[in-house]
Amino acid sequence: MSVKINGERLKERLIALSEFGKDIDGGWSRFTWTDEYNRAKELLKQWMEEAGMTVREDPMGNVFGHLAGVDDSLPVVAAGSHIDGVKCGGMFDGNVGVLGALEVITTITENKIKTRNPLEVIIFVEEDGARFNWRILGGRALLGEVTREDLDKYKDKDGISIAQAMKASGSDPDKLNEVKIDPKKYKCYYELHIEQSHLLESEGFSVGVVEGIFGSVWIKATLKGRTDHAGATPMKFRKDALVAASEINVAMERIATESGETTVGTVGWINVQPGTINTIPGKVELVFDIRDIDENNLEKAVNSIREFCSEVCKKRNIELQVEEVVRFDPIHFPKHMIDAVDEAAKEAGIASMRIASGAGHDAQILAKITDVGMIFTPSKGGLSHCPEEYTDYEDIAKGTQVLFNTILKMAEVVR
Ligand SMILES: [Zn+2]
Repeated sequence: MSVKINGERLKERLIALSEFGKDIDGGWSRFTWTDEYNRAKELLKQWMEEAGMTVREDPMGNVFGHLAGVDDSLPVVAAGSHIDGVKCGGMFDGNVGVLGALEVITTITENKIKTRNPLEVIIFVEEDGARFNWRILGGRALLGEVTREDLDKYKDKDGISIAQAMKASGSDPDKLNEVKIDPKKYKCYYELHIEQSHLLESEGFSVGVVEGIFGSVWIKATLKGRTDHAGATPMKFRKDALVAASEINVAMERIATESGETTVGTVGWINVQPGTINTIPGKVELVFDIRDIDENNLEKAVNSIREFCSEVCKKRNIELQVEEVVRFDPIHFPKHMIDAVDEAAKEAGIASMRIASGAGHDAQILAKITDVGMIFTPSKGGLSHCPEEYTDYEDIAKGTQVLFNTILKMAEVVR
């Protein structure tokens, strides 16, 4: 099939959508269930209807644009992403996937193409989780992994709970039980997304064929030493929790570097108490974010840092508590889902490279119930979650063309 998507329309729509959620501090802060978010969503629903889709919004705020198949009882071939973002983030993260999927359907109806399976565009609510510090909320609700209590428990910086924010936007937290989807409903799901890293740009490719998503483990370590006077306490009498934590942080870098080629480890958050200049830190909390696509290397890094924490704290006579707070296992996409993207790129004459995603996505949640695949487009300078986030519009058009060819393959064109 040599039908082409309309890259110019896609660009215009990305720019039109970027009118919503601009931040005076720079970039975009389009938080879920805010007025700006709701207006962006309404515009997308209008475009979905114009493309011939039947639009449904669930009580959580997830949006589904459905295009009937020749046999509408068959499982759905879906594509989508999110339109919420982080504080002062970019205008491409998530938006490219939603508008790319919309462009695919718009091209299909414009060209009167019929597919055997029904098609769907999904806008997942609250993926980045910037407002309530709780990621991939909409996707997890679709799987029944969110409880009504959670919606009261998690609050934004102004003390507004998820449930309150939902109600103010016309969503209904009390109908959460209606959100869960039937896993049999879907044949597969594809997500087009910006890479948010350097690889595609440095290797000179416009399209990445994603093989899987890194697993991630968050481990919280609490170190209790002794708070003492910084002037009056000789070095040999100290139990400085921050010095121990510093050794541990340096070790995290070494362990991640030595564990495997793709292992990454970060301490991005640390809490030092009491946190005054003339007091020896008596208590430190820090969280390790360790990721890898390879489960063995991930486990190796997790165990190594745990062991190192014990050794250092024993040596320094510091009390240690270690707790695993988050765990997502690595996801390897099914071979036929990856091959379909490869073939779709070849058909379109677009060179592509295989790649794994270090960042998490809605796709990793849907992978629990259906076959999942992803397509990446390059991020200039590897930058993302910042105002400078940029992807060349030609690359976005190429990625969308690959998504289009892939979707038609999976949904089977009927002539
Ligand atoms: Zn995203």
